[in-house]
Amino acid sequence: MTDNARRPLVAGNWKMNCLTAQAVSLARGVVDGAAECELVVCPPAPFLPPVAEVVRGSGVGLGGQDCHPAEKGAHTGDVSAPMLADVGCAYVIVGHSERRADHEESDALVHAKATAAHAAGLTAIICVGETEAERDSGRTIDVVGGQLAGSVPDAATAANTVIAYEPVWAIGTGRTPTTAEVQEVHAFMRDALTKRLGPDTAAGVRLLYGGSVKPANAAELLSLPDVDGALVGGASLKAEDFLAIAEHSR
Ligand code: PEP
Repeated sequence: MTDNARRPLVAGNWKMNCLTAQAVSLARGVVDGAAECELVVCPPAPFLPPVAEVVRGSGVGLGGQDCHPAEKGAHTGDVSAPMLADVGCAYVIVGHSERRADHEESDALVHAKATAAHAAGLTAIICVGETEAERDSGRTIDVVGGQLAGSVPDAATAANTVIAYEPVWAIGTGRTPTTAEVQEVHAFMRDALTKRLGPDTAAGVRLLYGGSVKPANAAELLSLPDVDGALVGGASLKAEDFLAIAEHSR
């Protein structure tokens, strides 16, 4: 099902890469390119202000890579959702598998972070995805269904929430599921969101695919009916590759 209300979105997760000069130059490269879809860049927290300067007024959105569930307080080293909004972010990634693994983030914590993002006026990009062992044991749909149920707040709308399906085993490995496997999971997620949030909301929520997306495989992945864009890691560190991927969004 293609719903014209879903404007494709291609978001770049720069992870823990770049220093100021590289971050600014990468952001300039993205801003100077052209894309019909919505583009978002998610630099490391220290580079949000200089990158915000570059993307301001360009149509390219800015996102954080994580936020704390609390608005403020004694949480050394953390960044709150209102802080992200204050420096110009419209988006924040929550529940990325690297955070779920490195910081033992549970679905409940991801849910709390998404709720904090919504309260600050940010759109939460909520990540879900199975490990290789889970896929090999035939549990992909169960795992993704459980993460969706536990991580997505009831107040999710098409405007404040984007879901990114990112199989853990596909991140940074050069491996991807088949297009049939991606579409199966995305159709399942659309159906689960329909049951949970109602057909109107679910039809508008953008479902991104993430995991080793590059210019060479973007066309086939981004043309799938329930894939509304991509969350891109490694390939987002080159403006040329990121923009080439975006060219393939529906
Ligand atoms: C990611 O980490 O969100 C990601 C999709 O990484 P990569 O594109 O490098 O697989």
